[in-house]
Amino acid sequence: MLTVFGSAALDTIRTPKKTLKGVLGGAAVFAAISASNFTKTGMIAAVGRDFPKRYHNILSKRLDLQGMTVAGNKTFCYDGIYDKTLSTRKTLKTVLNVLEKFKPKVPEEYKKSKFIYLANNDPKQNTTLLKEFDNVKFSMCDTIDFWISTKQKAVIKMIGSVDAVVINDEEAKILTKEHNLVKCAKKMMDWGARYVIIKKGEHGSLMFFEDVVFPSPGFSLDDVLDPTGAGDSFAGAMIGYLAKKNSTKMSEIKKAIVYGNVVGSFAVEGYGLDGLLRLKQSDISKRVRLYERMVRF
Ligand code: AMP
Repeated sequence: MLTVFGSAALDTIRTPKKTLKGVLGGAAVFAAISASNFTKTGMIAAVGRDFPKRYHNILSKRLDLQGMTVAGNKTFCYDGIYDKTLSTRKTLKTVLNVLEKFKPKVPEEYKKSKFIYLANNDPKQNTTLLKEFDNVKFSMCDTIDFWISTKQKAVIKMIGSVDAVVINDEEAKILTKEHNLVKCAKKMMDWGARYVIIKKGEHGSLMFFEDVVFPSPGFSLDDVLDPTGAGDSFAGAMIGYLAKKNSTKMSEIKKAIVYGNVVGSFAVEGYGLDGLLRLKQSDISKRVRLYERMVRF
């Protein structure tokens, strides 16, 4: 079983063609739904009493929700706007609401999880929560500029407590104060992460482990609607695949990264969670075969 911990959100997403208000989002939600294509996934998250029942129903069809609690009146809210190329997003508002004082609890059944994903969330909560698992084989975390600017020390401590960090290129640069991605990765490895995966949006990702570097291009698409949650979908598919294989062999880690890129590419083809919710297993395997053809030479 895989456990995902992080934010569940009501998002406002402003794209050049469409604005979505109060839609289901959050890093843990994207990651857990993505991972559920591969393995049984439990999600630990807090929502408010304002969290719509229909969103709860969407989640309960795909996830184990023993770890989801109503912890106050208002759900975490994120508001972001994309530029006209959809490649840069500016955060307009981050309102923590229930996340501010949330004391997450790990359900007994989840404590045996060997694979843990600490999605974008308060880094202190993430580090504390990880200690509650007895049998961890592979743990991975992500973060975002908001936490880097408000709790940088805690972010560095979190990176030191997990096996792997997935982070986007801009955030890696801000966090490590380096311009070169190889230097960024080395610094995060010095802080304690054994694997560093740097996401580069439409350009794919770079994975670093000891002296191995594994670049994986993004799946080329001509129609992107909404990149929100692509990074979380990437990470969810990656760790979901590893949990399914119960393996951390380098060959499986590389395949997991390809699945991450492929599932991430579906996420950006729809608004909000739509791309992931309409996804079928056969779509994933078909696109993985296309991807293989695309990169083989
Ligand atoms: P991504 O596009 O991969 O960066 O993920 C966007 C998702 O992360 C959105 O659904 C947001 O609700 C969530 N998110 C944005 N900012 C934060 C934050 N500071 N903490 C936790 N989750 C966040």
